[in-house]
Amino acid sequence: MTSLDSPLHPYEAPASAGLFARGQQITPGGVNSPVRAFRAVGGTPRFMVESSGPWITDADGRRYVDLVSSWGPMILGHAHPAVVEAVSAAARRGLSFGAPTEGELELGEEIRRRVAPVERVRLVNSGTEAVLSAVRLARGATGRPLLVKFAGNYHGHVDALLASAGSGVATLGLPDTPGVTTGAAADTIVLPYNDVAAVEAVFAERGAQIAAVISEAAAGNMGVIPPLDGFNAHLRRITAEHGALLVLDEVMTGFRVSPSGWYGLDPVDADLFTFGKVMGGGLPAAAFGGRADLMDHLAPSGPVYQAGTLSGNPVAVAAGLTTLRHCTDEVYAHCDEVSAVLRGAASAALFAEGVPHRVQQAGNMFSVFFVPDERQVRDYDDARTQDVARYTAFFHALLARGVYLPPSAFEAWFVNAQLAGEALERVLEALPAAARAAAEVERHRTGALESERSS
Ligand code: PLP
Repeated sequence: MTSLDSPLHPYEAPASAGLFARGQQITPGGVNSPVRAFRAVGGTPRFMVESSGPWITDADGRRYVDLVSSWGPMILGHAHPAVVEAVSAAARRGLSFGAPTEGELELGEEIRRRVAPVERVRLVNSGTEAVLSAVRLARGATGRPLLVKFAGNYHGHVDALLASAGSGVATLGLPDTPGVTTGAAADTIVLPYNDVAAVEAVFAERGAQIAAVISEAAAGNMGVIPPLDGFNAHLRRITAEHGALLVLDEVMTGFRVSPSGWYGLDPVDADLFTFGKVMGGGLPAAAFGGRADLMDHLAPSGPVYQAGTLSGNPVAVAAGLTTLRHCTDEVYAHCDEVSAVLRGAASAALFAEGVPHRVQQAGNMFSVFFVPDERQVRDYDDARTQDVARYTAFFHALLARGVYLPPSAFEAWFVNAQLAGEALERVLEALPAAARAAAEVERHRTGALESERSS
């Protein structure tokens, strides 16, 4: 069933609305992760019931082309038969042992094979956990307290890194979150992204106290803003000059934008890398890794404690390993191609309606910024000049036509290897109407102004 032949009006979602009302009674805001609540775009969040290939189906039986891909992991498309089979087989062998398994080694080896500076890997359950562990390790190994992060970069809901954190925090407009102590925040220095001079300046003043600089390998949590040419290499140089560590967060980009993630496109040898999403294949698995001498500071080899009841869970490992093994060159070539087609089509549709915007990409990840002109969006301040109302109109017009975009202007769009044929056609057919809806936002504003003036 498609949105077009559904008996429901495309804007109605009674089953999702009922579940959302029930959700408010059991979990804060009705959802288990804030952006899912649609607060940034309004309307009823769709409760999902099943997915296959490029499609995702909601509780009202309406099928959408999914451009969220579970926020990145589903690069092979949903319910890939080999992944489902590997997960089922692993589950039949045992859900969790709390003891080491060979599969964990294979997943670690698969990561190491793809990202050369990674000599040792530790598996964890979420990107947040990967980052907080890497940060603890960086502080433990250097004996220094301070961290440098960039405004609009999101590294999970790690206390020390929630300052100016893009993504859900940007969506909800939270300046800083209560519950993070001043101490935790005070040890974090927030700089503008892509600003080498700001990094040089802070190191000149406080370099000896800085444990690490952490940066998204390519920023995808304030919309997609790739590092300017050489930015990551400058971070490498500056940190090395001051005995600080460089942590590149590849939770989003890792194994998505190339077989080796952003490292494959811009090979900067960080001391530590964090991974998640694709390497978990849709199940909760993540990792961090880096130089052996550094990673060996971790317990039980060294004194920095880090652990997890479900770390390296065999079912999650089966999903991740099978996903990575099926991420062939053809998968990346298809994702690159389909991403280029969609970027071109979105831009053409918006130009045709005279809607100012800029489309930016980092490999196959991309987003459309509804910014006032075509200048490059380089940092969080630039990203925040977006006309969010236009994104909202664009989003809802696509949703009504059976295309599921991220419910926030500050998120990346994620394609997958199954996005082709009817699914791709559907998006291409829907884009002109969505662009028209974005253009009408301005017409309504102008109309409202004119009627105010004339009254
Ligand atoms: N780091 C980056 C770059 C991310 O994009 C995310 C999540 O989107 C995280 C860390 C946190 O990962 P998780 O949501 O699995 O905790």
